[in-house]
Amino acid sequence: MDTTRRGFLAAAATTAGATATPDFVHAEDHDHQVVPSDLALRTKSLESLLVEKGLVDPAALDAVIDAYDHKVGPRNGARVVARAWVDAAYKQRLLADGRSALAELGYGGTQGDDTLVVENTAQVHNLVVCTLCSCYPWPILGLPPVWYKSAAYRSRAVIDPRGVLREFGLVVPEEVEVRVWDSTAELRYLVLPERPAGSEHLSEEALAALVTRDAMVGVAKVALPQKGAQL
Ligand code: FE
Repeated sequence: MDTTRRGFLAAAATTAGATATPDFVHAEDHDHQVVPSDLALRTKSLESLLVEKGLVDPAALDAVIDAYDHKVGPRNGARVVARAWVDAAYKQRLLADGRSALAELGYGGTQGDDTLVVENTAQVHNLVVCTLCSCYPWPILGLPPVWYKSAAYRSRAVIDPRGVLREFGLVVPEEVEVRVWDSTAELRYLVLPERPAGSEHLSEEALAALVTRDAMVGVAKVALPQKGAQL
């Protein structure tokens, strides 16, 4: 499954044609010394100039980076999903009015003003894309992954969603309807994945630990850990 997904990512990066992409794809797996990409170097130069001219306060930049490192990210979305799994009333509110239900847990704001939550069931599988650029619900999923921004994913997710899902290692049976949602600057989407069978004994916290970013975009399912793995 990993091999296939890596293949898709590599192909996506190549098609996207961005000079920086392969480095970032690689960096997602593990860290080691690589020459900074052209994009990273340009960003650093721009930042130094802005700081030098007094147009940007480095402390303000650090605060933004800290927020995305520690406060904003897929762990937030995972908490939302786990709450919906254990609290039927919350789930109803979440599906009816995502924005308010997310605000109940303290999530919202920039790049997440209006969020529609779509539920995966035995009959329907939802997949999220932004065909135009890379709109994504930042407060609950963090910053979008490289593949989400790639031209290959953006075009193929709508043309051949089942094929794209297969390359992520997810085979959706023919009898299950696949719905593709195209994000916009005004409306973002969160997939509420199916709660895995056999997870009835798990606490809300343990459930949240199972929920991945990919499952909340709709390119994966939530699975129980392999036998023997620690929860
Ligand atoms: Fe976009």
